[in-house]
Amino acid sequence: MPEETAAPTFPIDAPVLESAGKAAALGLCPECFGRCFGQFGHGLTNPERAARLWAALDRPTPPAEGPCPLCEGLFDRWETWVTRTVAAAADCEWHRFSCGSRWDPELLAREEMIWTRVGSSWGESARGAFNRELGKRVEARSGAAGSPDDPEIVFLVDLPAGRVDVTRMPIYFGGRYRKLDRTLPQTRWPCRRCQGRGCETCGGTGKTYPTSVEELIGEPLLRASGGSATRFHGMGREDIDARMLGSGRPFVLEIRSPRTRSIDVADMALQIRDAAAGRVEVDGLRVCDAAEVLRVKEASPTKSYRVGVVGEVPLPKVNEALAFVAGRAIAQRTPTRVAHRRSDRVRSRRILSARLVEGGEGRFTLDLRAEAGTYIKEWVEGDGGRTEPNLSQLLGVPLTVEFLDVLEIHDSEK
Ligand SMILES: [Zn+2]
Ligand SMILES: [Zn+2]
Repeated sequence: MPEETAAPTFPIDAPVLESAGKAAALGLCPECFGRCFGQFGHGLTNPERAARLWAALDRPTPPAEGPCPLCEGLFDRWETWVTRTVAAAADCEWHRFSCGSRWDPELLAREEMIWTRVGSSWGESARGAFNRELGKRVEARSGAAGSPDDPEIVFLVDLPAGRVDVTRMPIYFGGRYRKLDRTLPQTRWPCRRCQGRGCETCGGTGKTYPTSVEELIGEPLLRASGGSATRFHGMGREDIDARMLGSGRPFVLEIRSPRTRSIDVADMALQIRDAAAGRVEVDGLRVCDAAEVLRVKEASPTKSYRVGVVGEVPLPKVNEALAFVAGRAIAQRTPTRVAHRRSDRVRSRRILSARLVEGGEGRFTLDLRAEAGTYIKEWVEGDGGRTEPNLSQLLGVPLTVEFLDVLEIHDSEK
């Protein structure tokens, strides 16, 4: 049956009537009285429910006297809460929101007691009703949409404190970056000595490196959005002295607590290009959602590398060794250089393909494709025997990696 032709049903049978009789004696406000039976009469407001119950009890709706013993008049102060809520977010842009509230636990316990006393198992909690009703009123006042699953801003009404706290949800930008500079870390690198506060060692900057891929991409976005901070999520990371070439590395740049959300992405891409001055290039910048962070962090694509190696070895011997390693598993114990942040264990990885590009006069260049998580420098140099087998061992001479470039990241798009 279409809803608009059906009057809200409210089966006021004997058990409901008995509970209503008990509730009627408590001096509750219409909101709280009706809410004791909130699961009935879908579409009715609580005062409308209360009116039906009074009618069923065959008694006139009593005039309000004194504050309600349950809510203490909370549900009469909508104007205050709506005004405070909207004012709390007056300095930022929002189109979707959600509402929550913090309550005096005694009041919530009182509500449970009242339900027990009147014998109603059909009540709706004050908190749930308050959040929903506040949401409707904030929608009407602001023109924004209530969106519990995907809010841009979250209001938390602290009822005992009489205050509204606001959380501005992050904005996420996705894209791919190339890094053409061998002195640039991927993320902001706080000074180890002062932990970012600024000291003599870091010249007061609080940083080990003057800038990073994160900062070159993030700063124009941070400025435009008025956010508080950035977080950079890359699909893995290259070494500081390695370039990232090809179609680039997928990333998500998160802007914390933004005030402006309408951002011209094309204009941002130009600003990033100018700020990065050829050190970093970004393709396909776009707004994305939080789920993209997981997708980027959990991917484990194979990668192609170009490696420049210094070592005195005849090139035919290099070719022979490369033919041997292609497709074969190597055992890599956590390299000493990352042992401070990774657990020390042995990982099995594969060099999928390997090819000599050029060589002569004590150096040669390789192209490799390897599984995610392969430590390339260590595979070439041996890392004191921590990688087995390694190229230096196979060739029987010491090798040094002169340069390393990531040529391509073979994620689902490439
Ligand atoms: Zn009340
Ligand atoms: Zn410092």
